[in-house]
Amino acid sequence: MHIQTAAVQTLRDHEHGAVVPPVHLASTFELDAATEDAAYAYQRGSNPTRAQLEQVLATLDGAEHGFAFATGMAATAAVFSTLQVGDQVLLPASVYGGTFRFVDKVFPSRGLTGRFVDDLGALTDADFTPATKMVFVETPANPTLRITDLRRLVELAHRHGALVAVDNTFMTPVLQRPLELGADVVVQSATKYLAGHSDLLAGTVTTNDPALAEAYALAQKAQGGVLSPSDSFRLIQAIKTLPLRLDRQQANAEQIVAHLREHDDVTTVFYPGSHSEDEARIHASQATGGGAVLSFELAKGLDRVRFIQALRYPVYAVSLGGVESLICRPATMTHEAMTPQARAAAGISDELLRLSVGIENIDDLIEDLDQALAAAR
Ligand SMILES: *Cc1c(COP(=O)(O)O)cnc(C)c1O
Repeated sequence: MHIQTAAVQTLRDHEHGAVVPPVHLASTFELDAATEDAAYAYQRGSNPTRAQLEQVLATLDGAEHGFAFATGMAATAAVFSTLQVGDQVLLPASVYGGTFRFVDKVFPSRGLTGRFVDDLGALTDADFTPATKMVFVETPANPTLRITDLRRLVELAHRHGALVAVDNTFMTPVLQRPLELGADVVVQSATKYLAGHSDLLAGTVTTNDPALAEAYALAQKAQGGVLSPSDSFRLIQAIKTLPLRLDRQQANAEQIVAHLREHDDVTTVFYPGSHSEDEARIHASQATGGGAVLSFELAKGLDRVRFIQALRYPVYAVSLGGVESLICRPATMTHEAMTPQARAAAGISDELLRLSVGIENIDDLIEDLDQALAAAR
């Protein structure tokens, strides 16, 4: 079954033949008095609607186990919940701001250390110590869209007994399935492409490892950051159009990248594979497309504020993945928690703008970018 079919058809067979799955809002479920047994007992532990979503999530990622959390950060916290006092995690310097905050503010009190690395692709055996228990990676990186070779990273980390966790928010299983490349766990902010309409917060975790699956189920039960049945239902419905939305968003993004590259008012354009032929080759070997996020810098002398004010369609806001185009300035919005030196090392200049491309008509988007560039001149 192809992913477009799986997104729509995974939940078709159920009790009443309804084409849309039911929503079970019950917080508690009747137990058998003799055995005190039931498929479901209390909503936090598990419930039929969340279980259906989790089945879809697992199917899309080619995973044995799927877990739905209230936010992407709750999902990330669950992934970090398997670490023990003294453990070290390697992460990219440009890692998502919320993940950076977790490592910076929460790790110390738990006896964990995070080491931020400029380029996970350049890791060698010497970067691993006996304490290194996890590599947490985003490829493409945000907002530079740099690529990390997942197969190489998995081989290296596993040789040192470290897990590989991939934040696949920018790609989704439609474009990249890290478990198939050997990664141990995949986390996503479903708030972005999976939900896709900027109206829902959710996080997902998938794995094939039974021991990790047990730990994530415990995180749901013990930490409690689970997705509600109503939001689980809304996410099930949203995922049905994920492949369709992302197809259009990516096609729009590719045209915008080509257009901006030829534009005299734009200097740098970052898109997966744009940094080098090597990265382009690696990305093509592990993903089926570049996705719908790009970043760029205006040419010297152009007024950035004027440009953003003149845009009619892309909304100046953080987040990404929605059907409407969004634009933001990573240095002050998504990556403000990094030091200026760390941002410079990661290639995030103060002038870099990140565009999350929506499903609007491409001619309207290009015309809008052109008129805003003209206004900024
Ligand atoms: C948004 C985001 C998160 C966090 O997700 P929330 O749903 O906002 O908690 C994690 N990773 C990446 C790459 C993100 O873009």
